[in-house]
Amino acid sequence: MNKVFNFCAGPAMLPPAVLQRAQSEMIDWQGLGVSVMEVSHRDKPFMAVAAKAEADLRELMAIPDNYKVLFLAGGGRSQFTAVPLNLLKEGEQADYLITGQWSKAAFEEAKRFRDVAIAAEIDMSTKPIALPVDIKVRAGAKYLHYCPNETVDGIEMFEEPAVDVPLVADMSSCILSRRIDVSKYGLIYAGAQKNIGPSGLAVVIVRSDLLRDDMQVPCIWDYAQQAQQGSMVNTPPTYAWYLAGLVFEWLKEVGGVAAMEAHNAAKAELLYGAIDSLPLYQNLVDASCRSRMNVVWQLKDESLNEAFLAEAEALGLLALKGHRFVGGMRASMYNAMPLAGTQALVAFMQDFAARHG
Ligand code: PMP
Repeated sequence: MNKVFNFCAGPAMLPPAVLQRAQSEMIDWQGLGVSVMEVSHRDKPFMAVAAKAEADLRELMAIPDNYKVLFLAGGGRSQFTAVPLNLLKEGEQADYLITGQWSKAAFEEAKRFRDVAIAAEIDMSTKPIALPVDIKVRAGAKYLHYCPNETVDGIEMFEEPAVDVPLVADMSSCILSRRIDVSKYGLIYAGAQKNIGPSGLAVVIVRSDLLRDDMQVPCIWDYAQQAQQGSMVNTPPTYAWYLAGLVFEWLKEVGGVAAMEAHNAAKAELLYGAIDSLPLYQNLVDASCRSRMNVVWQLKDESLNEAFLAEAEALGLLALKGHRFVGGMRASMYNAMPLAGTQALVAFMQDFAARHG
């Protein structure tokens, strides 16, 4: 197989070591003569996988004991609905900070079911694009929802918003990429397909006192019920859960979240450095909130876009096209992306600029 570097935003590349291990265990898992996909979620072998995955995630993120960890079906967007339904009764309020496409989508979905308002909204027309400063939370708000890393816009918030209500964070594209203090949050959720495993799985980390058992929520997304039943109200996505567990084991082997933070910072610095130093390219996000996971940029001469993408692909640099909503280019560099991938991308960008500058 030719060497490729896959910069897809998600589903994204997984660590090759994890894929190799999954492959080696596929047909005969733990000597049982069947694959992990074919055993009952309630039998001991899978229960051990589930418990180990949770324990490893707790260790990696230093999750305090007063938080529940749930592994649910439905991916990131399922939580756009589950969060307001679990945390708000009809008539109760919550506020949303809008910093890009995904926090906006979370707000729009919550609005269909509950009384939610915008606490502040980013202004994408002023350049460089900077985070809003004046966050206004209503007196009765039960939580503030925000998205620390906007996957489409390439905007990352490195500090938590300073507010007095519980923070709910969509960490789909930054979970496990840098150290965070979980105790600052009421609830964290993430779709798995970037830094955790395959798509369709969502991880929810919720402070126990926020769980209410008198809420009207579809049972498979009812946090209180799922917490009571070990995320097994329904048959969970067992293969995705198993793969997430392998990713957590890999993360521990390579030095945990602190090591990933340094690794990710180094890749981002290298790529932003190239964008800023080569006149062919531009990034319009303020340096204080440039995403380390999803680096976006434009070719100032957009007529070169197709040639750029075609030449990159021919070199094995895959999936660099920006999201269809914003255009331009995007390189997603989650934990599994090696430094060599970023180096190969930068070398190509320099060469392309030299030929087209
Ligand atoms: N939130 C963020 C920040 C995302 O990047 C994504 C997917 N790219 C989602 C939510 C939606 O996740 P899913 O497609 O799993 O529903």
